Amino acid sequence: MKLILASNNKNKLREFRQIVKDLPIELISQKEAGCDFEVEETGTTFEENAFLKASAVTNATGCAAVADDSGLCVDALNGEPGIYSARYGLGHEASDTERYQYLLKKLEGIGNRSARFVCCICCTFPDGRVLKSRGECEGEILLRPEGDGGFGYDPVFHPLCTEKGMAQLTPEEKNAISHRGNALRIFIPLLEEAVKNDYQ
Ligand code: IMP
Repeated sequence: MKLILASNNKNKLREFRQIVKDLPIELISQKEAGCDFEVEETGTTFEENAFLKASAVTNATGCAAVADDSGLCVDALNGEPGIYSARYGLGHEASDTERYQYLLKKLEGIGNRSARFVCCICCTFPDGRVLKSRGECEGEILLRPEGDGGFGYDPVFHPLCTEKGMAQLTPEEKNAISHRGNALRIFIPLLEEAVKNDYQ
C-alpha cells in the first residue's frame, strides 16, 4: 500500500523507510505527494501534534498518511525541550549542534541528567480511521557530545540499554532501541490489521 510520511524531515524518512523496508508498504514523502506545506504544530502533546500533521496530509491528498511527533524530555528541566525540541531555545534556524550545545549549557552543574526520547505516531485514513502508537527510549544527557551518527540531540544522549551513545550506533542499532523504532514496532501490526480488509 502507498503511505505518505507527513514530514519534510529527511532523517525521519530515512529511519521510517529502514524500519518498514520488509513490508508491502511504499512510503513516500509529503513532498513527493505534492504537499508543499509545513503543518503548524499547535498541539500541547506529542500525540496531538502527530494527529495534526497526519490529518492535514490526508485531508489534502485523500490518502492514508503517517506522522510522528518526537522529542527529548529532560527530567531536571521539567520535561523540556519536549514538544519544542525542534526549535528549542533558538528558533527553527539554529543548527542541531547549536541546539544541543544550548541544552548542555542549561544542564551545567546539574547532577540529574536523566532523560528520554519520546515518539508518537499517528496514521490517518481518508475514511476517518486513526491509528496511534507511542515509543520511548530512556537514557541520560552526556556531559559532552560523542559520535557523529544520527541527528538532532543524538550526540548528547546515552541510551540506558547500550554501552554506546546514540550517535555512535549504526542506523540498525539505533532503530533496534530508539523511541521511533519502539513506536513503529507497536504501530506496524496495527497498520497491518487495519489494511488487511482493504486488500482481501
Ligand atoms: P518534530 O519534527 O516536531 O517531531 O521534531 C522532532 C525534534 O526532536 C527533532 O528536530 C530533533 O531535534 C528531536 N528528535 C526527534 N527524534 C530524534 C532522534 O531520533 N534523535 C535526535 N533528536 C531527535
